[in-house]
Amino acid sequence: MATVMDSFSLEGRIAVVTGGSRGLGRGIARGLREAGARLLLVARHEKDLSDAVQGLDPAGEGTALSCPADVTKPGDIDRIFARAVEAFGRVDILVNAAGVNLRKPAVEYTPEDWDFVVDTNLKAAFFLSTKAARIMMDASTGGKILHIASLASAVGLPTNVPPYTASKGGLALLVKALAGEWAVARICVNAIGPGYFATKLTAPLLEKPEIRDGLLARIPMRRFGAPSDLAGAAVFLCSSASDYVTGQVLYVDGGYLSR
Ligand code: NDP
Repeated sequence: MATVMDSFSLEGRIAVVTGGSRGLGRGIARGLREAGARLLLVARHEKDLSDAVQGLDPAGEGTALSCPADVTKPGDIDRIFARAVEAFGRVDILVNAAGVNLRKPAVEYTPEDWDFVVDTNLKAAFFLSTKAARIMMDASTGGKILHIASLASAVGLPTNVPPYTASKGGLALLVKALAGEWAVARICVNAIGPGYFATKLTAPLLEKPEIRDGLLARIPMRRFGAPSDLAGAAVFLCSSASDYVTGQVLYVDGGYLSR
């Protein structure tokens, strides 16, 4: 008889993970792989991708493959999903962890800065989602779409990131809009909202002792997250264990938003 633990298994599932070459996307990819999923990892830089694939599939059994691509380019989005279907025959899960940020006072941002951040974090998230959903609908399989939101989906942050905040706030409501529309197709759309995690994205902040200490003081658990801290939430939201959960942002933030 199947148990609740079986509902967390991702055996036989196929996941496309953007931003899977490093940082949070790589930590999530490891969790999905450990739960049984086979993976297509996406990022722009091939070397980082091949390192990540090597780490996830050291014997080269084809359980993790790479697809160098830029998610802001519509042709690349088509190519990502064509590659997943060609290699694995289906797509059950999209994890969208590709993201960028810039930090400076609001009055210094240019239109190009805005487009760089919002096109990657929000526009690409939408078109990745619609492409994945089309495949899931055509196959009548249902599926799981998981975005990476942020504390900036819920509050303004003290680190000079207004376009990032707009993109992540938009993402939190995009999740709700798509969840409502696609529930009938059994496609669940959710997000994880990480607190502060030590990655390449946050290194410019966390390397400065005064900023680092100020941020730590605001986190009730008094530590930054590690990518592995997201694996459990990601496996839950990508598995049958969460089949009645959609339109949610699950904050994994050491208690930051509890204050
Ligand atoms: P990293 O900079 O470590 O990783 C970002 C990943 O996205 C890399 O794999 C990068 O690969 C990829 N990427 C960036 N732009 C593109 C693009 N145009 N096309 C394809 N891939 C792209 O950042 P994090 O792991 O920290 O961030 C991952 C996500 O988590 C982001 O959405 C971020 O906003 C979010 N987040 C992070 C937090 C943190 O504290 N670190 C907190 C809250 C949210 P490449 O450069 O090779 O393309």
